[in-house]
Amino acid sequence: MSVGMSLALRAKQPKQKRCDRCDLYYPESLDKCDHCAELNNSQLAQLKAQHQETMEENTTFGKYLLFGAAIIGLLLLLSFL
Ligand SMILES: [Zn+2]
Repeated sequence: MSVGMSLALRAKQPKQKRCDRCDLYYPESLDKCDHCAELNNSQLAQLKAQHQETMEENTTFGKYLLFGAAIIGLLLLLSFL
C-alpha cells in the first residue's frame, strides 16, 4: 500500500482514542469514553471480562477453522490416492 493511499484511508476514519479505563476505543470528539463513562467499577469489570471472552471466542473459532481446513486438505489428499 502506498503512503498516499494509507493517508487517505486514515483521513476517512474518525479519530479514535483508547480509553485508559476500559481499553476500548472511542471517538476523539467525545470528552469521555462512551463505553465506560456510565459504569461503576463492578460494571466495568464485567465489561472487561466480556471483552476478554469475545476475544477468546474469536481465537477458538480461528482454531476450528484451521482444523476444518486441515481435515478438508487431508480428505482431498486421500481422494487422490
Ligand atoms: Zn472506557
